[in-house]
Amino acid sequence: MTDYTLHYWQQKAEKLSLEGRAFIGGCYVDSASEKVFSCNSPIDNRQLTEISRCDLADVDQAVAVARKSFESGVWSKAAPVKRKATLLKFADLIAQHQEELALLETLDMGKPISDSMAVDLPGTLRCLRWSAEAIDKIYDEVAPTPENELGMVTHEPCGVVAAIVPWNFPLQMASWKIGPALAAGNSVILKPSEKSPLTAIRIAGLAKEAGIPDGVFNVLPGFGHEVGKALALHHDVDTLAFTGSTAIAKQLMIYAGESNLKRVWSEAGGKSPNIVFADAPDLLAAAQAAAGAFCFNQGEVCTAGTRLLVEESIKDEFIEHLIAAVKQWVPGNPLDPKTNVGAIVDETQHQRILGYIAKGSDQGGKLQTGGSAASPVANGFYIEPTVFSDVANDMVIAQDEIFGSVLSVISFKDETEAIQIANDTPYGLAAGIWTSNFAKAHKMAKAVRAGSVWVNQWDGGDMTAPFGGFKQSGNGRDKSLHAFSKYTEIKATWMKLD
Ligand code: NAD
Ligand code: MN
Repeated sequence: MTDYTLHYWQQKAEKLSLEGRAFIGGCYVDSASEKVFSCNSPIDNRQLTEISRCDLADVDQAVAVARKSFESGVWSKAAPVKRKATLLKFADLIAQHQEELALLETLDMGKPISDSMAVDLPGTLRCLRWSAEAIDKIYDEVAPTPENELGMVTHEPCGVVAAIVPWNFPLQMASWKIGPALAAGNSVILKPSEKSPLTAIRIAGLAKEAGIPDGVFNVLPGFGHEVGKALALHHDVDTLAFTGSTAIAKQLMIYAGESNLKRVWSEAGGKSPNIVFADAPDLLAAAQAAAGAFCFNQGEVCTAGTRLLVEESIKDEFIEHLIAAVKQWVPGNPLDPKTNVGAIVDETQHQRILGYIAKGSDQGGKLQTGGSAASPVANGFYIEPTVFSDVANDMVIAQDEIFGSVLSVISFKDETEAIQIANDTPYGLAAGIWTSNFAKAHKMAKAVRAGSVWVNQWDGGDMTAPFGGFKQSGNGRDKSLHAFSKYTEIKATWMKLD
């Protein structure tokens, strides 16, 4: 077994050769304009490489080749078992390159290398393999018709799918879209975030090597709205699958309405409540999970448990356990395998989080721990995990999605108040409930308006569980068989037999 050390990863990073070009029609190509943007590592703000800055011309080109490949049937009409085999090969190639891909992820967006290796890569592989394995096991329907008719309800791929993904789990969020979209037979254009384009670009070459036909899988890096907006306004994109902020999700629906009414599926923001009752089975365990719920991935997690609702009677005791647990989360060099808190994705996000910390103090939150920038590596962007107690749910830090490890502790007196506070948010992505009382757990789980509810744990579930939001956290679901409904159209075919 490899002995992973800081030195090992630093050496490997120095030897990396980085690809920054777009991937269109089976080839790596410069953007039509030949413009580029800089890709810096948040670890130390060093430039890693330059990335092709695609725009409208590249979008037109990619949509045209994707459409052509779709119409040709080379992938869309291939037997499901064939697509399955190809996607499994794709996953195997990703597995063979997992160290390189994990390293790219960490260099590009700053997450701890141990997480890239233990969470992002296995999660990506599991999603691709699960989606591939599912596709030759999904049946269509035959309707209960009279004798002289045959009614069939069948699923067909949508056509050209554009996937626009964020920077917090670049490869994993991409896999949640491209896994089912490709398995279902669509041609796909993946648009990574300008903050983390490296892994998406790298896997395009592996997709080709696996035998995914040219034009079926394309990757278009771009800056800001440039590529995403052009895809969303394009008349020949059939489906748009988005993970990112609620503000952009809304914008994409407008673009779809202004163009061809393409299907827009969004997985957006969150401000998830983690509700701890006095009768939780193990308060220490609950405190440790509550710390992880907002510290993991630097708090840059859509389902981060950033509102900790604690029953009044145990508030002081629980905060003590919580602070002890949070102190175990320490910013360090992301390339050091011992690090559990990495760098914030870039300077803009770093400033934004520090701005929210200042607002928390201004509005009367009581700072319990953290509150400052950290600098384990010179020139990098780091922040200490930060806890405010005595927060009211209408304070800015309890309402806005901060996307950094800033926790608001809010107390409640009974179940009714807990639910009222939990649901007093425009979001509805996830919630946690800690209690030994089964009836209370069930009642609370039903009452909370969220797509994922976890009882006596945080972040439960796997590929078998659908993932997505209520309210302004989005529509549609990633993962599980439910994900396929985003990437297929349903056709009713009725035949008269006499
Ligand atoms: P973002 O909305 O700023 O960007 C997401 C993607 O959209 C990026 O690729 C970006 O380049 C692109 N984009 C930006 N402006 C655009 C425009 N006008 N038109 C089209 N595309 C545009 O989000 P982010 O900062 O990359 O990611 C953080 C957000 O993602 C958070 O809100 C987080 O909650 C959310 N998120 C949600 C989930 C989920 O499954 N619900 C998972 C991860 C992240
Ligand atoms: Mn980056």
